[in-house]
Amino acid sequence: MIQLEHRYVDDVPELTVPATAAPAPAPRLLVLNEALAVELGLDVTFLRSDAGLQFLLGLAPVEGSKPVAMRYAGHQFGGYSPALGDGRAMLLGELRTDTGLRDLHLKGSGPTELSRGGDGLAAVGPMLREYLLSESMHAMGIPTTRALAVVATGEQVVREDGTHPGAVLVRVAASHIRVGTFQFARASNQMRVLVKLTRHALERHLPDAVQADNPPVELFDHVVQAQAALIAKWISVGFVHGVMNTDNMTVSGETIDYGPCAFLDGYDPAAVFSSIDTGSRYAFGGQPSVAQWNLARFAEALLPIVTDNEADAVEALTPILENYPVHFNAAWLAEMAAKLGVELGRDGLDEDALTTLVTDLHGYLEASGVDFTSFFRQLSGVARGDRSSLIVSDGNRERMDLWLDAWLTFAPDADAMDAKNPLHIPRNHLLDAALLAAEDGDLTQFEALLGAVTAPFTAIEGGEHFAQPAPAEFTANFRTY
Ligand code: AMP
Ligand code: MG
Ligand code: MG
Repeated sequence: MIQLEHRYVDDVPELTVPATAAPAPAPRLLVLNEALAVELGLDVTFLRSDAGLQFLLGLAPVEGSKPVAMRYAGHQFGGYSPALGDGRAMLLGELRTDTGLRDLHLKGSGPTELSRGGDGLAAVGPMLREYLLSESMHAMGIPTTRALAVVATGEQVVREDGTHPGAVLVRVAASHIRVGTFQFARASNQMRVLVKLTRHALERHLPDAVQADNPPVELFDHVVQAQAALIAKWISVGFVHGVMNTDNMTVSGETIDYGPCAFLDGYDPAAVFSSIDTGSRYAFGGQPSVAQWNLARFAEALLPIVTDNEADAVEALTPILENYPVHFNAAWLAEMAAKLGVELGRDGLDEDALTTLVTDLHGYLEASGVDFTSFFRQLSGVARGDRSSLIVSDGNRERMDLWLDAWLTFAPDADAMDAKNPLHIPRNHLLDAALLAAEDGDLTQFEALLGAVTAPFTAIEGGEHFAQPAPAEFTANFRTY
């Protein structure tokens, strides 16, 4: 019998509304994350059974269960929306694990009180996409919500471009509390709710701080650091989230909401894939500063519970916010050092030298247009003594040789590089093709790609194409929706 807890609903009922999953005419399990199921103490055989599918669809609530849609607000592309919330999602409850509570959350499970005219549904393609992307991120050691399963519902979902098969994604997270959740609590003018939400978030993500003199200050500092570390990791693998609205930023520091996100092919700070990001607000290179902008909105939401006097509250949070670039820069340099197989303090490598090395490299990468991901795997070949393993574009050989000479003086560790730089990321051309086939009922490509991206650092015999850059004509036109 699956035991679900309901701490969130019990602690902050004001931030939830009861939710009921939509019936599924013909449920079919498309993918199940058995390793995650085991980690969560769930029985794989049960989950694969008819009763298990009903459970995964939220249609067989366990006894005493309180499924809810979560309320939140959020700045979307800079504009404030006071009432967003789970319009097509619901929190089934929390599972207790050795490392704390884990939310069991459904996406595509039907309309809720918060749907605002949306149909509450999700299509197979985007849900498989989120499954694969989030599991890829996890395999690369990047904090993220996890994917437990995708179940096709047998329902049809109507979108602008036609009708698609429907699906529910079963998501697992340390919590689904967003910056936008705090914005909602603040805007609803219920300071008591804001205090309770802060306490709940701390109990889950920073239990030692529950008794602190000023819990909201501790929480803010924690989230600032968690987000700085997270965004540095995104940058290190070329991840473009695409919709960094404040409702898509967690306080747990986990990546959430895989919509129009994508990975870079060539290194390009201006890269935007999302067709709706017409102002390039969420371009690859802008993500670190967008995160700080979002954190400023988080600070504003917390102000009334920091102290009674607003000026004092601002004074308490401002230095923490201003420290974000310091945390980000340190995290980013650490990521880049690891990618380059070097270590600060070793062979005279100090922060300035590392920064120069990285800046020069980025200049080259941007100018040459070489594939960002494969570049670093080729580079470990150079660290092993074979310069010919690095494919350098015409006219760049001399520049690159100079850079390689500088880098090699810091004795890069090739094995460490190969354990840090992925060979397999969800390449846009492969993922697109796999999802197209999956919508037509053929999951072979999806499963193979999932296998590759969940073993990101290990070459697959016969799977060399997973590590190959996209054809240039694909890259030029690639858009996400
Ligand atoms: P997102 O851009 O994915 O972060 O979603 C923004 C808001 O739109 C959230 O409140 C979602 O719950 C809501 N939403 C997205 N798609 C749907 C849908 N098909 N039906 C109802 N609400 C939706
Ligand atoms: Mg969202
Ligand atoms: Mg979304």
